[in-house]
Amino acid sequence: MTTLKGKTAIITGSTSGIGLAIATAFADEGLNVVINGFGDADEIEKERKTLENKGVKCLYHSADMTKPDEIEDLIKTAHKELGSVDILVNNAGIQFVSPVEDFPPEKWDAIIAINMSASFHTIRHTLPLMREAGWGRIINMASAHGLVASPFKSAYVTAKHGIMGLTKTIALECAEDNVTVNSICPGYVKTPLVEGQIADTAKARDITEDEVVRDVLLKAQHTKKFVTVEQVAGLALFLCSDTAENITGTHISVDGGWTAA
Ligand code: NAD
Repeated sequence: MTTLKGKTAIITGSTSGIGLAIATAFADEGLNVVINGFGDADEIEKERKTLENKGVKCLYHSADMTKPDEIEDLIKTAHKELGSVDILVNNAGIQFVSPVEDFPPEKWDAIIAINMSASFHTIRHTLPLMREAGWGRIINMASAHGLVASPFKSAYVTAKHGIMGLTKTIALECAEDNVTVNSICPGYVKTPLVEGQIADTAKARDITEDEVVRDVLLKAQHTKKFVTVEQVAGLALFLCSDTAENITGTHISVDGGWTAA
């Protein structure tokens, strides 16, 4: 049986929301974690220490996911400082909501870079290390929007569909190497990313924020409940288990029935 204790996980975009919950769940299992993302330096250090107080090693790396050279440094530093990179969670992501004709091209470029191309860069530097170690888990944070679209989210939906293709391709490339590659497709999870788009969607659709929650977000989510960050983190942990060793090249939805309809 593979023991996760003492292995190393990199979680991009883990200073907030889903990434922070995954880092916490992993540290609770005894995994050393590398956290990444933006935010107040004191807050990030507090988070790092909280994780380390669980009895694991925790590094923070500030790599900007739009910068391939910083991404390379993230992977190399993690490997050098912690001795291995066993689990990679490509989680960093941003959102922007606007009709396509008004969509700022620089926002399009940023979403494609952070939500999609960054995973190409993390994976190309990490996969050789996992192959050498003979074990690895890659988890790409996609979305229900990797399977279906919503209006006004052209860049996000494009990037999330792209990450689903990347997941399948890399899974085939390393299928015999004891490395699995999967996507998680959450529905709406109440994190800062979603809180921000409630206001943006209200503006784009000319409705109130309460109407956005009721008629747009939870309309699609048949359970009428937001997904929790802990539920997504639990799924990530499951994908790292031996039970999941034959799950590769696919996605698991946690979307309250959204994509069943
Ligand atoms: P969040 O805003 O709480 O966290 C995003 C994280 O990404 C933060 O740590 C932020 O600092 C980091 N980040 C942003 N730009 C970055 C950059 N250039 N370089 C490095 N880090 C960067 O959002 P969240 O809701 O926790 O989202 C996490 C992931 O889950 C995203 O990929 C998102 O698309 C996906 N997702 C979220 C939901 C949801 O409803 N919240 C649903 C489906 C998928």
